[in-house]
Amino acid sequence: MLRPERIVVLTGAGISAESGLATFRGDDGLWEGHRIEEVATPAAWWRDPETVWRFYTLRRRALLDVEPNDAHRALTRLEREGPEMLLITQNVDDLHQRAGSGSLLPMHGQLRMLRCEQSGRRQERMSEADLDARVFAECTCCSTPSRMRPDIVWFGEIPMGMERIHAAIDALQHGDLCLVVGTSGHVHPAAGIAAAARSVGAITVLVNLDAPVNVGDFDEVHLGLAGDVLPELVDAWLKEWSDV
Ligand code: NAD
Repeated sequence: MLRPERIVVLTGAGISAESGLATFRGDDGLWEGHRIEEVATPAAWWRDPETVWRFYTLRRRALLDVEPNDAHRALTRLEREGPEMLLITQNVDDLHQRAGSGSLLPMHGQLRMLRCEQSGRRQERMSEADLDARVFAECTCCSTPSRMRPDIVWFGEIPMGMERIHAAIDALQHGDLCLVVGTSGHVHPAAGIAAAARSVGAITVLVNLDAPVNVGDFDEVHLGLAGDVLPELVDAWLKEWSDV
């Protein structure tokens, strides 16, 4: 492959699996024992905020026990040594940030952050008190402190940074690269990124454990563990591009 001018990368839960974080759709179709509607919709927060808070507090706390893996680090290297890159992630963990990724867009929000229900302001809140599953966190921005919700894009809500995502895809030209890692291709609009990139002439490359539903949108498919496949791929690309 010739050296691209620009790269757009999309990652999903699969890239964090080798760090020990469960993916979304296990064999049982549940996420950590819950149905999606129980915990990841605005209606769930309205109906049963205690269950939703408990679920996300456990996910937030789990961040303290995991580390980035070789796949996260390979993307950091690609950004540092390769062409201009935007890394879009559906993941709500902080493993790309901790691996050193700079140009990062977490389109589904971040577990580290909470959002004031009244003012909409976001705060990074990871103190021990903020990780208590029994007590809702309160904001520090309102005169009468308001309850905070997880700063997560739930099903039925609009993903973050869509304008920037559209601009990054529009900027892709013939021969640029769109790399997708560890996602099942079920959740839109993220699942449409590869097809959109391909329609403007970018080469689309997939790294995933098994074939996702949108496997037909890729020019190159690498099936395997991201932690094995991605470092080798990035290594080979950087070598190829520096030889030209
Ligand atoms: P998904 O669970 O639907 O799909 C994960 C994909 O990764 C699968 O196709 C699977 O084959 C693949 N995979 C699993 N282990 C892998 C590995 N070691 N290497 C390469 N591929 C591997 O996840 P999704 O498509 O990202 O959609 C899930 C939604 O759930 C997202 O919107 C996200 O916000 C949320 N989520 C996030 C996390 C996280 O932040 N770590 C975890 C679970 C769910």
